Amino acid sequence: MLSEKPHRRYNILTGEWILVSPHRTKRPWQGKEEKLPSFDQPAYHANCYLCPSNIRAGGIKNENYSSTYSFVNDFGALLLENENESFENGLLKGKVEKGICRVICFSPDHSLTLPLMKVSDITDVIRLWKKEYKELGERPEINHVQIFENKGAIMGCSNPHPHGQIWAQSSIPEEINKKSFHLKTHFDKHNRSLLIDYLEQEIKADERIVFSNDHFVVLVPFWAIWPYETMVIPRKHYQHIRQLNTDEEAAFAEAIKVVTTKYDNIFETSFPYSSGIHQRPTDGNEYSEWHFHMCFYPPLLRSATVKKFMVGYELFANPQRDITAEMAAKTLKHLPEIHFTSIE
Ligand SMILES: [Zn+2]
Repeated sequence: MLSEKPHRRYNILTGEWILVSPHRTKRPWQGKEEKLPSFDQPAYHANCYLCPSNIRAGGIKNENYSSTYSFVNDFGALLLENENESFENGLLKGKVEKGICRVICFSPDHSLTLPLMKVSDITDVIRLWKKEYKELGERPEINHVQIFENKGAIMGCSNPHPHGQIWAQSSIPEEINKKSFHLKTHFDKHNRSLLIDYLEQEIKADERIVFSNDHFVVLVPFWAIWPYETMVIPRKHYQHIRQLNTDEEAAFAEAIKVVTTKYDNIFETSFPYSSGIHQRPTDGNEYSEWHFHMCFYPPLLRSATVKKFMVGYELFANPQRDITAEMAAKTLKHLPEIHFTSIE
């Protein structure tokens, strides 16, 4: 019913709406084309500030690491040493924000990306995320820990070395507050996780599921904004990644490997995206309603060089997309789980 007509879809996690216009998918494209990223990176790059033993711009030398590696960003957007100060003058309000920005190297090998890494090596990344979430979250001045990755120059990431970031801060960010509200409203009413109920409905419909294993489901959410947006959702009602056991860590790693491999396979390119893990804040409250999940927001639309822009109507009204979530899910579901560069 929704596959042909322009319609709006509701995001159950943020309470926001998006416009879907499937009849527009056939319109011609004469707009901007991006440069193709390259796969032929060396395993070690002397000028890379993330490669083992190299000296970073701030003069600090990286460890000669052999698995994962993390450090405080030399030019972080947040600082811990600030005094608590607030500012109020009539209608103008401000507040000093305390925080820590960390860089997480996924591998010592400069040439890799998550889809090219082994599941066991991605599991090491998940273990490092767990450790960082614990250590940062336990600090009294830190109330929220955001784990994320920007992949590709198109996403503003200048260094191809496989890495992500963590921004941990004293305030709880807007996206989290929105999701907390809607998760809590559902939990208070039904005493069940909103995402458990959503997963149940999606598994039954089987229109937007891309991949699943014993512990995780990867799907294109009904309300997806980005053309090939996906969510990785644990089947169990877990508030945060520290609750994952060894088997579940490996299953999470497999889900990440499969979805990022399928991404690369769509246009046979190193597929750019921003990904992030949303989980319960670390301010010490229970947040029983929270159900952690990972989101991938990739900008590519119709080829390796044509991206979706969030401009005009999206900036002034609400997000809009042309291909439906079901069309995107169908494409992703049927793509091979083997990376195109390793198929003879
Ligand atoms: Zn490097």
